[in-house]
Amino acid sequence: MSVDTTAIKVTKTNHSHWNEVDWDNLPFGKIFSDHMLVMDYADGEWKQPEIVPFEAISVHPATSALHYGQSIFEGLKANRTPEGEVLVFRPDMNAKRFQESCERMCMPIIPEDLFVELVRKVVEVDKKWVPSKEAESLYIRPFLFATDEFVGIRPSETYKFIIFTCPVGAYYSEPVNVKIEEFYTRASIGGVGRAKTAGNYGASLFPARQGQMKGFHQLVWTDGKEHKYIEESGTMNIVFVINGTLITPSEEADTILRGVTKRSVLEIAEKWGVPIEERKVSVEEIITAIKNGTLEDAFGAGTAATIAPIAKIGYREETFILPPIETRTISNKIRNYLDDIKCGKTEDVFGWCLKV
Ligand SMILES: *Cc1c(COP(=O)(O)O)cnc(C)c1O
Repeated sequence: MSVDTTAIKVTKTNHSHWNEVDWDNLPFGKIFSDHMLVMDYADGEWKQPEIVPFEAISVHPATSALHYGQSIFEGLKANRTPEGEVLVFRPDMNAKRFQESCERMCMPIIPEDLFVELVRKVVEVDKKWVPSKEAESLYIRPFLFATDEFVGIRPSETYKFIIFTCPVGAYYSEPVNVKIEEFYTRASIGGVGRAKTAGNYGASLFPARQGQMKGFHQLVWTDGKEHKYIEESGTMNIVFVINGTLITPSEEADTILRGVTKRSVLEIAEKWGVPIEERKVSVEEIITAIKNGTLEDAFGAGTAATIAPIAKIGYREETFILPPIETRTISNKIRNYLDDIKCGKTEDVFGWCLKV
């Protein structure tokens, strides 16, 4: 049987906990909406998906994802417009990236249209969970993991795809301090850095904690070979503004996760005629620009935080303080515009939002 998205069975919960949520103080990623979507893969095909009450799942101790890491995820958001409509931001981009992650991890691909429709459907069922306050959204977490009950290393033959959602508040409440990492590596050439696969995040925890003990929120990752070129900031892409030009590490190497937020930032900047350079960005260039006062801005870009301004950059024994946030005209303007598109407060000239 193949998937029929017009006939997805929905089993509603008998006890919605919507009323128990403190809607004035939404944390990030700790509150879960009432339902989730589940779709299994077996016998070489996707089985009919179902929407069920959000609940724990039971897994066999030999579930291969737990042992060998065939596990990938996505993250995207839905927002409520002033008129009360719900918009999902660029789900097609997440669908495409999910396919890339699937390919890299030897997992079965979900067709783009199916992925987008399943996201739309799960948001539709829990539409009342989409918050309406500024800086709040419904975070959508699709993920896929190997479920073969087998001890042995080979691609699994069975998988489980789940989408759950979380009403969320702001990810960072303040500008972030980052440290340029010159020893540990997030991703190396030929590795899995371009895939949103679980192991990448597990591997980053120890180095990130070393940085946190020195007072930094996150690390700026450099290339695994020479540690000379900047790649990403924590789990966000990184963008600099030097002399009015947006500069960001190019994605040609497969060590950089291809972010939807960064791409959107660049597409807006391009439309506005802001000069953009996607190329190798050396640590030396950034430190020089800080020292000679031409570095106007540095920020992380990612779905969770949208744009996270960087306040301080630590490099070796020095900590550099970047220009005050309010002077960062370009990124402030882009962030506001992006927020307005996501929330339907300005015309969606790019055609980015999917109405639910
Ligand atoms: C998810 C992620 C990003 C940001 O991607 P968005 O699509 O903008 O959310 C950047 N870097 C890493 C390592 C990521 O996992």
